[in-house]
Amino acid sequence: MKLDTKALRYLTAEDWRVLTAVEMGSKNHEIVPTALIVQLSGLRGGSGVHKSISTLAKANLITRMKNAKYDGYRLTYGGLDYLALHTHIKHTTLYSTGNCIGVGKESDIYVVASPSGQQLVLKIHRLGRISFRNIKNNRDYLKHRASASWMYMSRLSALKEYSFMQVLRRNGFHVPEPVAQSRHTIVMELVDAFPLRQIQNVPDPARLYAELIDVILRLASFGLIHGDFNEFNVLLKEDEIFKEPGTKTSKSEQQSQEPETKSRNIMLTPIIIDFPQMVSIDHTNAEMYFDRDVNCIKRFFERRFNFVSDELGPHFADARRLAARKKGKRLDVEVEASGFSKKMAKELEKYMRAVGVDGDGGHDDDDRAREHSDEADPDDSLDGSYDEANEDTEVPSSQDSGTALMSSDAGIA
Ligand code: ADP
Ligand code: MG
Repeated sequence: MKLDTKALRYLTAEDWRVLTAVEMGSKNHEIVPTALIVQLSGLRGGSGVHKSISTLAKANLITRMKNAKYDGYRLTYGGLDYLALHTHIKHTTLYSTGNCIGVGKESDIYVVASPSGQQLVLKIHRLGRISFRNIKNNRDYLKHRASASWMYMSRLSALKEYSFMQVLRRNGFHVPEPVAQSRHTIVMELVDAFPLRQIQNVPDPARLYAELIDVILRLASFGLIHGDFNEFNVLLKEDEIFKEPGTKTSKSEQQSQEPETKSRNIMLTPIIIDFPQMVSIDHTNAEMYFDRDVNCIKRFFERRFNFVSDELGPHFADARRLAARKKGKRLDVEVEASGFSKKMAKELEKYMRAVGVDGDGGHDDDDRAREHSDEADPDDSLDGSYDEANEDTEVPSSQDSGTALMSSDAGIA
């Protein structure tokens, strides 16, 4: 879905209050009755509210809906995007949006900038945009939670990812620095690197392989399994390091295969991203997830670099042993303490299973192409709750790059 930020510039403070009122009303109503919007907005004099409602509907931030009993409005994905952007702007996290650098099955990734001009990444979680074949298969599950479920689940997914990023970062893992989270969005550090998927050669595949397996095992030692560990979710950062001739070579510098006499070396650091599918090592299917992570890396190294490790495994038993040895520090528990509860984890997992969220892993290019063609099935929406999912999967053109989101006097309350 295209992130069209044009209307952000002209919405008034009252429009924002009304949009927020629709969001609040959505918690308990699939279609928020107009009278409730008026009440929740706290604005006196109905006509102003109606004017705002019409502005918001024209900008596709809310949609008029009828049910048997009453007329009302529903927040669209665009409306939720605006509310999140508004919060990021208010907290001075964000100033402008730039290019879309990724459209995944469950997210859109944009380069954005802070007011000081620092480039950042905005990840918008979109759990409604899924394989409609799976929705058909799971209509019963989804029927009972059609009410704003895509919105709630996308929020949970963002909250989960943000909580894990914070905890991982705090514990020394190489992940992008998490900056802020609002609703279904995360703002994080922009890593200046390509995904491993796009890298054709590395100086020492064996070393890189060992490092990645080490990350998988280190996660396990803290009680965690990534759940979607593959060449799409590893960014390979290149840092140039200069050394005096004759100085000892550090571990990281050994990546370089240039002769000792040269002073220029490249250090490769794998940065891990994409955490909505992370699970605890105590999860019922932990072994399957662990093996899948390991096998994704093995398969990729064999295909891309012709590299096969002499060592078998690692196996889940190794992961368990490591976790048991490291007494005390369990990050799955730390994440729970940070606000992403077990109950939320279960809800999200159930939904992800029902709608067929399976991450980037285990997909060939053919599979991915097929998945995407599923999404474009125009007649197949569910009870009006998923209709935006089909609306538009276009990537914003480069003309959208670097758009300031609001004029300085815009309605930031
Ligand atoms: P998805 O869940 O859709 O797979 P990801 O978090 O994996 O979303 O991001 C999709 C793509 O966007 C990545 O493969 C990577 O190319 C790019 N990307 C995501 N986060 C960052 C970041 N912090 N810095 C640079 N590129 C990123
Ligand atoms: Mg990914």
